[in-house]
Amino acid sequence: MQDRPYTFINSAMSADGKISTKLRKQVKISGRTDFDRVDELRASADAVMVGIGTVLADDPSLTVKSEERRRRRVSAGLDENPARIVVDSGARTPLTADILNKGTGRRIIVVSQSAPEERVAALREKAEILVAGKDQVDLTTMSAELKKRGIGRLMIEGGATLNYAMTSSGLVDEISVFVGNLIIGGENAPTLMDGPGISEREQAVGLKLIKYEPIDGGIVLTWKTG
Ligand code: NAP
Repeated sequence: MQDRPYTFINSAMSADGKISTKLRKQVKISGRTDFDRVDELRASADAVMVGIGTVLADDPSLTVKSEERRRRRVSAGLDENPARIVVDSGARTPLTADILNKGTGRRIIVVSQSAPEERVAALREKAEILVAGKDQVDLTTMSAELKKRGIGRLMIEGGATLNYAMTSSGLVDEISVFVGNLIIGGENAPTLMDGPGISEREQAVGLKLIKYEPIDGGIVLTWKTG
């Protein structure tokens, strides 16, 4: 058995690969059918994770939106919402963030050893704290610890930096991306995967296309890694 959760990324990008505009704020890329698909994926996960960049840019709550799905989770003995996780080396998550305040269920903030103690103490009032890594969160240690804490199925919802860091560390099993019918452009607009990137083809993460589904004027592509 894997010593980390089964981990999948879900994202929405424009036809030119951008996940938001050059203002780096949330932008509508998909439509109702895709929102509903994402809600189902969320409801199926033990935890939903984002990077601190996404919390600061978009302030998402990451709750399950459908009442019916929340009810289904509760009848299965689960919390209404999956655990919500922020990867946040410096404990910068605002105490007013929607992730910490909207909906019921577990919250986990993953920090590094260098996070300021008073920030960590304040966050501990609202969330479980997981310490992994010295100056930046060590994603492999984090993934193993999450498994120990009962997270078997982990959904990553961005952003660009965390998507790449998790994928290039070999910690992602599956990637679903809605490709929308618009062009966003802009060299500073985040893409599905940013981060440092590679210089040689051999270093690329290989993918296998397992599903394609046209919806909302665009298409959902689902890939397995490796
Ligand atoms: P991000 O990926 O959400 O968060 C990145 C941050 O994670 C890093 O700056 C780093 O900050 C932290 N981190 C901690 N440990 C890390 C590690 N080992 N490796 C890499 N990062 C680590 O932020 P982003 O790249 O700025 O993306 C945000 C953008 O994505 C926004 O524009 C948002 O609107 C967009 N977005 C779009 C979608 C979509 O589906 N269309 C979904 C989500 C977000 P620390 O070092 O301080 O911890």
